[in-house]
Amino acid sequence: MNKYPLAKPNIGQKEKTAVLKVLDSGSLSLGPVYQKFEKAFAKALGIKYACAVSSGTAGLHLALIAAGIKAGDEVITTPFSFVASANAILYVGAKPVFVDIDPLTYNLDASKIEEKINKKTKAILVVHIFGQPAEMKPILAIARINKLLIIEDACESLMASYRGKLAGTFGQSAVFAFYPNKQITTGEGGMIVTSSKNIYELCCSLRNQGRKQGSKWLDHDCLGYNYRLDEMSAALGLAQLEKISYLISKRREIASWYNQAIKPYNEIMQEPEIARGNTHSWFVYVIKIKNKKINRNQVMEKLETAGIFTKPYLPSIHLLGFYRKLFNYKPGDFPRSEEISRSSLALPFYIGLTKKDCFYIIKKIADIINENRKK
Ligand SMILES: *Cc1c(COP(=O)(O)O)cnc(C)c1O
Repeated sequence: MNKYPLAKPNIGQKEKTAVLKVLDSGSLSLGPVYQKFEKAFAKALGIKYACAVSSGTAGLHLALIAAGIKAGDEVITTPFSFVASANAILYVGAKPVFVDIDPLTYNLDASKIEEKINKKTKAILVVHIFGQPAEMKPILAIARINKLLIIEDACESLMASYRGKLAGTFGQSAVFAFYPNKQITTGEGGMIVTSSKNIYELCCSLRNQGRKQGSKWLDHDCLGYNYRLDEMSAALGLAQLEKISYLISKRREIASWYNQAIKPYNEIMQEPEIARGNTHSWFVYVIKIKNKKINRNQVMEKLETAGIFTKPYLPSIHLLGFYRKLFNYKPGDFPRSEEISRSSLALPFYIGLTKKDCFYIIKKIADIINENRKK
């Protein structure tokens, strides 16, 4: 039986050679490679500065500190995200204020933002989920009128674009992540990008125990962290970045195979939709099971028995236990987010999947849904 994992990284000989070279150099942290990675990353995005960090979560934490978000502040964000985006707001003592999502892109619904703005609101943390950018034009306008900062969680959307402009280039800062299932990986790692020299320098200092770049060893002038990216990870990231256009074009090709395979089954499942003006960079391929009577979790279990590993992407953050406790959230608070959480399914998605695999996986899903429907 063929086995289809949910994700796997695409690591070639160049990556291996690059990591070994670092190991042989003896310079495993704070060497020359992470700075090369930063420069190449900034260039690939067409933005001025990039600051490498130990994870996407660490990057979000620092981006919020650098933005001056603190206890008592409110930050508007989406409940339909990986938990790290909302958690980072809690790290700085601020309150995440959720706004329901657009049913097309699964990102923040701009038309619902303004009713949540008050004197405490300082920023909008925009998440570009699954590889598709949020509707930035109205969000930018709301931010401008209400004097709010924009910070982007672009952890899932490297090289996706909105009206020709790359995700991660809209806000005061933006954060990318390089966990092994992302478009490029460093193992663990992340990157903050910004066009502000101030924000860049602050983030660089904060990730390195509060030490200004270029200042003397053990000279610390603010409360910092150790959120550095080591040299092996940076070397891996640099080698991955060099083949980014290959990686993204392969992901787009696999998504198009899945789309074709789903067409005959459009009555029972829906492929991901792309908003006009967006390009998608496919972090995951998520379908929606249309029939509400079908138990998605049962479908997942049967798929697993057949060697096909899927995941419910994503649970709505406001319904996670500790968010409910902290803020009294309950089912029904953000119905669109909850509806996608209930019916969505992330399919195996990685470079190496063939067109035949995609058709096989979709047929299997359709068979299982149809079986469940008859019962
Ligand atoms: C992956 C991810 C993160 C966090 O990245 P880590 O590197 O795992 O800390 C944050 N937000 C979103 C939306 C993500 O998908």
